Amino acid sequence: MKRLFLLLLTLLLFVGSARSFELIMPNEKKSMVNTNYAFFFGRAKGYETISINDERVYIAPNGAFAHSVKLKDGENRIMVRSTYGMQIYNIYKNTIENQEIPMEEFSKRKAIVKNDNVPLRSTPVDAGLNRMSHLYEGTHLIVNGSKGSFYRVFLSKNKEGWIAKSDVMLVDSDYDSPAEFLGMDSERFKNAMIQTITFTKKLPFTIEDNETEILFRVYNPELSEDSVYNINIPKPEKYVYSVNSENGKYTFKVNKLTENINECTVVIDAGHGGREKGAIGCLGDEEKNINLKIALELEKLLKEKGFNVVLTRGYDSELSLKERIQIAKDSGADIFVSIHLNSISDIPMNIHKNRGTSVYHFNKNSKELAEYVKKSTTRSLGSHDDGVRTASLAVIRPTEYIGILVETAYMTNPLDSVLYTSKDFAQRAAQGICNGITDYFYSEK
Ligand SMILES: [Zn+2]
Repeated sequence: MKRLFLLLLTLLLFVGSARSFELIMPNEKKSMVNTNYAFFFGRAKGYETISINDERVYIAPNGAFAHSVKLKDGENRIMVRSTYGMQIYNIYKNTIENQEIPMEEFSKRKAIVKNDNVPLRSTPVDAGLNRMSHLYEGTHLIVNGSKGSFYRVFLSKNKEGWIAKSDVMLVDSDYDSPAEFLGMDSERFKNAMIQTITFTKKLPFTIEDNETEILFRVYNPELSEDSVYNINIPKPEKYVYSVNSENGKYTFKVNKLTENINECTVVIDAGHGGREKGAIGCLGDEEKNINLKIALELEKLLKEKGFNVVLTRGYDSELSLKERIQIAKDSGADIFVSIHLNSISDIPMNIHKNRGTSVYHFNKNSKELAEYVKKSTTRSLGSHDDGVRTASLAVIRPTEYIGILVETAYMTNPLDSVLYTSKDFAQRAAQGICNGITDYFYSEK
C-alpha cells in the first residue's frame, strides 16, 4: 500500500513537472548580476497560474509571460511558484559604487589623434548624444585638463570638447609650428553644395545641424584662441551631409536627396545574425530570425516601388556594426533602415507597458523618416505606438545617409509575442516600413 502510494506520488509529481512552466530567462538557478532588476521570461504549459515572489504574473493567450523583480544589494531569493510546482532562484546583486570622478587641470599640451573616426564629445562621458564630430587620425589638438578616462580639448576661448585618452598621444610642446590657412573654395552642383578649406595640417572641427543650415567650424587653437573658421551651407528639405579630410584639406558636402526613385538606394539591415542572436523572446524565439524575415519581405516591396535595394545580410550571417556601415557607404545608401525587435533593459521599465513599435534616429535629418515609418508600421501591425526616439546607435550615426532603426515589437512583452509569432507578422511589418519610406520619399512640406 505504502509502495503504491509512493508510486502514485512520483507519477503525479512527474506529470506535474512535465506540464509546468518553462523559464527561458534566467537560465540558471544561481547567478550574480550588476543590474537593478532581475527579469523572468517564460512559457506556461498548461492551465496554470504563476506567481513570482507572491505577485501574480500575467500569462498571454499563447502562454508567454514576463516579470521583473527589483533587486536589493546582495542575496535575493526569488520564488517562482505555479499550480504544478515551485522553483527557487538565488540572484546576487553586486553593489554598484557611484564615485564622483575628480577633474584635473594642467597647462596646455599638444596631442595627436591616433585613429580615424574618433568622437569629439561635449561631455566626458562615453555614451549618449554628446558627439560634436568625428576626428581624423593625425588631427592636432591642445588638451588642458582631464577627467576619468577623458582629456579636455581646448578648441577656442569659448569652446571646449572631450576626447578619450586612449584615442590620443601627447606630444612635446615645441614639436612643430601652428597650422597655416591655405585657402577656401566652394562648388555648387544640381544636388550638392561643396565647400573646401585647406590648412597645412589636420585640425579639429565640429558640426551643427541648425534650423536652416549645416554649420561646420574648424578650430586652430595653436595659432590663437580666436582662430575659428565658420562654414555655413544651407540645407534643402531632405538632405545628407559629409566631411572628408585629405591631410589638412577638408571637404564639407551637403546633398539633396534625389527625387528620382530609381536613383534612391535603400539599404536594409537585418539586425544581428549568426552567433549573435539578438534578444530572446518569452517563448525562446531568436530576434535575428524575425529581423531577417522582415528584411527579405521589405526588399521585395521596395523593389516593386522602384527603389534600388541593397541588403547588409540576406541570410543568417554574422556582421559587425562597422561592416554594416561600410556596406551602406559602399553602395551609396541614401536611406538606411535597420530592423530589430526590442527588449527591455535595466531601467525601471514596466514589462507590460513597454510594448509595440518604436523608431530610432540619431541625426536631425532622419527624424522625419522615423515619424513616417512609425506611423505606417503601427498602423499596418495594429501595434502599440511606442514613439520616435533619439539614440546613439552606431549604424544610424553616419550623416551620409538618412538612417533609422525600427523596433517592430518587444521580444520581451507577452502580448507582443502573440503578435510577432503570428504568421503574417513579417509581411505586415515590411508593408508598414515600405509605406513609411515611400510616403516620406514623396512627401512635401
Ligand atoms: Zn536587436
